[in-house]
Amino acid sequence: MEKRKAYKPTAPPLTAQEKVSRYMRSNKSKDTQPELLLRRTLWQAGLRGYRVHWKHLPGKPDVCYPGRRLAIFLHGCFWHRCPHCALSLPKSNTAFWREKFTRNVARDQQHRAKLKAAGWQVLVIWECQLQQDLEGCLLTIKGLHAGVPESYWLEAA
Ligand SMILES: [Zn+2]
Repeated sequence: MEKRKAYKPTAPPLTAQEKVSRYMRSNKSKDTQPELLLRRTLWQAGLRGYRVHWKHLPGKPDVCYPGRRLAIFLHGCFWHRCPHCALSLPKSNTAFWREKFTRNVARDQQHRAKLKAAGWQVLVIWECQLQQDLEGCLLTIKGLHAGVPESYWLEAA
């Protein structure tokens, strides 16, 4: 039976803290492949005028349309703990990673709550969704970009 591939940090022996710094840096790089793919797709679909990592918004969404009050987070499955992938925790320093991820998830949640409270629509796209169903992701974004039915605001209130 083939064992499911677990995520393995590839760095040479480092302290957990050093590892986190390193991965956080790479995590924060602006132009990851999935981000470029998403932006290219939006651009080609005519959904232009987006801002990238707009610093005026909580959590600096990967893409946002200020005029439409639409914020999109493209979350990496490992860092943000994708519910679809449910990746296992790293085998070493497990407690540390668990706490780290709990904080990540809580922070994501706070960012979404703040945005919604400010009247923004928030869409989370998981990296795996982008890879598996780019067309579906685009359709969802198109719908949100096209406008929100009034009932949304009533439900959101
Ligand atoms: Zn995923």
